[in-house]
Amino acid sequence: MTDLDRAVALLAGGPVFVLAGAGMSTRSGIPDYRGPGTRERARRPIQHAAFLREEATRQRYWARAFLGWPAMRDARPNVAHEALAELEAAGRLAGLVTQNVDGLHQKAGHRELIELHGALRDVICLACGVRCARDDVQERLAEANPGWMREVSLAPDGDAELGGVEGFTVVACEACGGPLKPDVVFFGDNVPRARVDAAFAMLASASAVLVTGSSLAVFSGWRFVKRAHEAGVPVVVLNLGPTRADEVAAVHLDRELTEVLPALAGALTAR
Ligand SMILES: [Zn+2]
Repeated sequence: MTDLDRAVALLAGGPVFVLAGAGMSTRSGIPDYRGPGTRERARRPIQHAAFLREEATRQRYWARAFLGWPAMRDARPNVAHEALAELEAAGRLAGLVTQNVDGLHQKAGHRELIELHGALRDVICLACGVRCARDDVQERLAEANPGWMREVSLAPDGDAELGGVEGFTVVACEACGGPLKPDVVFFGDNVPRARVDAAFAMLASASAVLVTGSSLAVFSGWRFVKRAHEAGVPVVVLNLGPTRADEVAAVHLDRELTEVLPALAGALTAR
């Protein structure tokens, strides 16, 4: 019996709780800063407290985000996202909890999911709480910064240090003038309690857990695997490289997701 056969056997018994991470989207061109071979690309992540406190941090965030949004907006799902959507359509899932903020599961046709860390498509006002679309904010940023893109594209290292951040104009909430924040959970912030509870409720109805493309480095995802393990629910891990769950996983397929996940979905939906 191969490891793939063992994984299929464990996941075939009933509804599967899927926890998806950044490794899902690397083949869609969205970098995984924790994945193998990407250590040298580590940058200073935005800290939640600094974003709230410092105008300069918000300016740095929005300047980078302004440059990065077109690629994020136009990214396409890959066969790994499609495989999970097929499993959902076949009634195999208790639910999907994703740590990704890129919206690629929905683009692949996935219907029911919890975006644990929020989504970049939405922007929220820190003062009045009103929400708006990231696409609209992008348009306003473009209007507020004519010519800025041209200056930056002349910089030799692209967005690496973004020498022109000081000249970038950040836009404010149209309703109240308050500061805008993407509706995502930054480092140092907590996932909203109601969202965590909904994910645990999903987990309670599952007979197995499948981790796809996450090293489980952050607690926000690891807690579900920990809970499952304590309850005796088998855990299957599909991830390139070691994970925090390797000690507790019944099977760890250390392989490229875009190869192994379609194979797994094909075997499960054929049963
Ligand atoms: Zn506002």
